[in-house]
Amino acid sequence: MKKNGNNFSCIDFGPFENLSQYCFEHPKLTEGVAGKLFLKKELALTSMEVSLNKFPAGTSMPFSHKHRENEELYLFLKGKGEFCVDGNWFEVQEGSAIRVAPNGVRTWRSSSSDELIFIVIQAKAGTLEGSSIQDGIPVQT
Ligand code: ZN
Repeated sequence: MKKNGNNFSCIDFGPFENLSQYCFEHPKLTEGVAGKLFLKKELALTSMEVSLNKFPAGTSMPFSHKHRENEELYLFLKGKGEFCVDGNWFEVQEGSAIRVAPNGVRTWRSSSSDELIFIVIQAKAGTLEGSSIQDGIPVQT
């Protein structure tokens, strides 16, 4: 289901458990990445990219990556695994939130028994001015 208005876009992608129905075709990979849904295009986002991810148990990312300009926030919603930045591995689980600077070389893996469900938000590093409280304007309705 999708709804659009003058000042909003809304998509209902269904339960996180069903994310495996989505597949991301990466231009540099021979196979698509199942369980990954990017929202920028779906919602016409203009200042960030967001992906919803379901990563099966016992799976490792087949590569590491870094970014040119964007920092990333990884928010783990379910499961257990390990995350690596610049060769340093540490455990992640439901409730873990990780910020990775553009130049940080990152990868991750799920535990042998738990799938990982997480959200990744990326935006250009150093561009956020003020906080959401300072930016918000009360409006009487
Ligand atoms: Zn990335």
